Amino acid sequence: MPAFSRLAQADGSCMMVMVNDAEFVKQAEGWGARFLPRQRLGRYTSLGVGGEADFFLLRRTDALEPLVEGLRQRGIPWTLLGGGTNVLVPDEPLRKVVLQLVPGPHELVFDGHTVRIAAAAVLGRSVMECAKRNLGGMEGLVGVPGSVGGALRMNAGAYGTEIGPLVRSVSVFRGAAGVREDLPAELAGFAYRQSSFAPDDVMLSVTLELPEKPYAGILEEVKALNRRRLGSQPLKEKSAGCIFKNPPGLSTGKMIDQLGMKGLRQGGAVISERHANFIVNRYQAAAADIFRLMEIIQERVLKAYGVELEEEVIVWRN
Ligand SMILES: Cc1cc2nc3c(=O)[nH]c(=O)nc-3n(C[C@H](O)[C@H](O)[C@H](O)COP(=O)(O)OP(=O)(O)OC[C@H]3O[C@@H](n4cnc5c(N)ncnc54)[C@H](O)[C@@H]3O)c2cc1C
Repeated sequence: MPAFSRLAQADGSCMMVMVNDAEFVKQAEGWGARFLPRQRLGRYTSLGVGGEADFFLLRRTDALEPLVEGLRQRGIPWTLLGGGTNVLVPDEPLRKVVLQLVPGPHELVFDGHTVRIAAAAVLGRSVMECAKRNLGGMEGLVGVPGSVGGALRMNAGAYGTEIGPLVRSVSVFRGAAGVREDLPAELAGFAYRQSSFAPDDVMLSVTLELPEKPYAGILEEVKALNRRRLGSQPLKEKSAGCIFKNPPGLSTGKMIDQLGMKGLRQGGAVISERHANFIVNRYQAAAADIFRLMEIIQERVLKAYGVELEEEVIVWRN
């Protein structure tokens, strides 16, 4: 039996990679991976869009090595999903299998001013767990949704704080070589909303070094930042946060706003009236609606300001 099949389109091109090797699936389940065939990825992304893909949930990170090796041997491409809060997934079925790490019971291990946090852990919750130990420095990140792994990949940041400068080292599984490494922060290439990890590098955990700060002070700051976020972002709607990066010295939201584009609608997708750099899925949008709205924004900003906007959201292209 073949390891996987490619669902064909009418024109003969490939649409979806499907794992159809029952023996392999059984083996994977033995390693601690749960196989979920043909999942609609819109269920797993904060934008609520995305076509179908076969899915493996990994309850244990030691399932990664044999699973990735098994996929490699079978020529099955794969990609990793964190909390799904910064990805834009196309409507068409995916030509890759999706892997997702599931948070376990012991996500944070403290040692003085350092803490090792599992990549699958929820970032906001981790900030508050550290706060309870009087460890601060991450207050700005509390409202950034998603996982610690996603935050590392993106060097997530808000209100003057980025995760990169707090990192001492990252434990990473190099998918291409099939090995684990402990990487010092200097080699992670953290910069504005980016890191230097390869697409098939999987972050397993991070060690952060945090300054001591009283819990009460952290809590006060967190509450103030949450209020600020609530007042300026459409948190009740489906989005992926800021769609485009800010060019150096400029605010993308301000440029879009000055062009009078807030409220502009394409299909089910709308440029948020609350924050112009957010596209929200208000009326059961398709990914295609969001792509089109992004193109319109890019065209108008280029014409008006001569600025080429770079995507902040990670676009999964088939
Ligand atoms: C309402 C809202 C507000 C937001 N505000 C902010 C903000 O203030 N600042 C900010 O920076 N971002 C913001 N974001 C964007 C997003 O929350 C962050 O980028 C977040 O860090 C992404 O984490 P995630 O786990 O959801 O990653 P995902 O969206 O799942 O993935 C993003 C990328 O990271 C990769 N990835 C995920 N986990 C791992 C891992 N373990 N190892 C290797 N690669 C991995 C994925 O393959 C993908 O390429 C916001 C989003 C929303 C919806």
